[in-house]
Amino acid sequence: MSYPIHLSRTERLSTLAGVTPHVRPEFEALVEEAKARGMRPFIVSVLRSCEEQKGTASKARGCRSWHLLGRAVDLQLQSNRGRIDDREPYEELGRWWESHGGVWGGDWETTYPRGIPGYEAAGPGDVVHFQWTPEYTARVPDSVCDDSDCQGSVNRFWEEDSGRAPSTTIARTAPSPLSRPVSRRVRGASLAPLVMTGLVIAGAVMLLKGK
Ligand SMILES: [Zn+2]
Repeated sequence: MSYPIHLSRTERLSTLAGVTPHVRPEFEALVEEAKARGMRPFIVSVLRSCEEQKGTASKARGCRSWHLLGRAVDLQLQSNRGRIDDREPYEELGRWWESHGGVWGGDWETTYPRGIPGYEAAGPGDVVHFQWTPEYTARVPDSVCDDSDCQGSVNRFWEEDSGRAPSTTIARTAPSPLSRPVSRRVRGASLAPLVMTGLVIAGAVMLLKGK
């Protein structure tokens, strides 16, 4: 298989058709997981050409973005109430993704594209960026790319990488859909550690008084 030049720009950027075939199940699991958590995931950027990469606000230079190599997906989240401006839902999904071996851009120190809804408020980091590269380093290794021949490097990597069997790393347990909106659920979740701390302090005070 060679680099999917037959795909239209829309297909490459806003569907999972452009990710490397054997890692597609992982990204499908990610989208399903977001839905199961009551979020509405929107795919905003997947497989970029070298030319398109130059036009992004990404700090990745030359071919050093996994978006060029079919291993990264940018997901924007919405809740039932509309656009999500909080970091928490991204972080929740990002931690889940990491627990299965993925890389979440929310941990990165980076500047992020302006004009993407939710981005300014959800920072720091590239919160919409989800990457599946367990066999590689989080950043594209220099050996993969020759900057003087960006698209050539990308095509060669793609050819080598896409010959593998489908991945089944993430075995989904299909949690039941949540009825409450994400924003409310997040608020409740963020209170839990406070409540626990309060209980522990109360318990300690009672113990001290008992002596
Ligand atoms: Zn990205």
